Amino acid sequence: MTSQIDTIGCLPGPAARRQTRQAICRWGDHAVRIGGDAPVVVQSMTNTDTEDAIATAIQVKELAQAGSEIVRITVNTPEAARSVPAIREQLDRMGVAVPLCGDFHFNGHKLLSQYPDCAQALSKYRINPGNMGGGRRRDDNFAQMVEVACRFDKPIRIGVNWGSLDQELLARMMDENSQRAEPLDAKAVMRQALVVSAISNAERAQALGLPGNAIVLSCKVSHVQDLIAVYRDLSARCDYPLHLGLTEAGMGTKGVVASTAALAVLLQEGIGDTIRISLTPEPGGDRAREVIVAQEILQTMGLRAFTPMVIACPGCGRTTSTVFQELADDIQRFLRQKMPGWKTKYPGVESMNVAVMGCVVNGPGESRHADIGISLPGTGEVPAAPVYVDGQRTVTLKGDHIAQEFQAIVEQYIERRYGQPHRSQAASE
Ligand code: SF4
Repeated sequence: MTSQIDTIGCLPGPAARRQTRQAICRWGDHAVRIGGDAPVVVQSMTNTDTEDAIATAIQVKELAQAGSEIVRITVNTPEAARSVPAIREQLDRMGVAVPLCGDFHFNGHKLLSQYPDCAQALSKYRINPGNMGGGRRRDDNFAQMVEVACRFDKPIRIGVNWGSLDQELLARMMDENSQRAEPLDAKAVMRQALVVSAISNAERAQALGLPGNAIVLSCKVSHVQDLIAVYRDLSARCDYPLHLGLTEAGMGTKGVVASTAALAVLLQEGIGDTIRISLTPEPGGDRAREVIVAQEILQTMGLRAFTPMVIACPGCGRTTSTVFQELADDIQRFLRQKMPGWKTKYPGVESMNVAVMGCVVNGPGESRHADIGISLPGTGEVPAAPVYVDGQRTVTLKGDHIAQEFQAIVEQYIERRYGQPHRSQAASE
């Protein structure tokens, strides 16, 4: 008989990634691969006016430094199209190689054709087939954009959106549905129309000469269950790489929770090759938050590692001061700030776990399980904070400078464990 322990041990992890073609977004020597055997790529989008080249370049740089591997910018006017090469040049001057994706709606065919420097400076074009006019005009506009993508050897994302779904296609599918013996409900037809729109436009792009491995698809909706249903269907029907994202996810925790709920289900099923978290920033908020949330979804699911993780307890009646909350926050900030430099200096550091715990109840146990951890004193406990390194209690910190001393211990640990001399010494042993 299988014991309960055996059964629990056999619970499945994420499903194998669905097999897809691989699209490549290039800028200079830098290439970001989407799909195939590539890790799930993190993307983001600017909210500056693209006509303001300096402000946009600065925000792209911030997003790239936060970890965005592709950054999308709005290209909506002739002035914005003219600004794109200047943004690219500015980024190149700052040493930021992140590929730029141009977001086009309504007039993309004109802008890409009339501004070849813009077409060249972008590494990918996002095309929304629902925003290109109707009938023959839409087909011509779509063909014009695909022709530019072929000429400049750029991949495209065919990004279908619930809010701008091709109305002719939807009306036709609604009519067909009404002829059925058992018609589907209107929402189900809408979901199907999204998938049909994405795949039929991808096939059309291929028929126009774009290679199949230069196409990424997305079908964005704003409700979690719709998104899951649509992407399951889309992934079953094609092998194009898929861009996941809940559109209009919202502000604050609602946006984070809704995006995480939807994407986690799909990623767990092996669906999704690149993600973007569409958070509405709070006034004065940091745009890079969407990048951090995307990274944290992937890292907490064990799909990728970006920055050392801080495991912190929630606190309770045993912690009457904010010391441990401040320490957890300081350490997380410190690790994130240091990561750009550590990435090359300390390979593997991104997988490290740091525990910051509030009292003796779970503190020592959780700290032992982490690579490095500290168990702070709770209310009424002896004012001492034991530090655990690789499961062993090492020093006990006391006094007013516990935070600084622990930070220094973390830094020394990283140097010792992930630094180059350590590895070459280990290799020679
Ligand atoms: S570790 Fe201590 S302070 Fe933290 S939640 Fe548990 S009991 Fe509360």
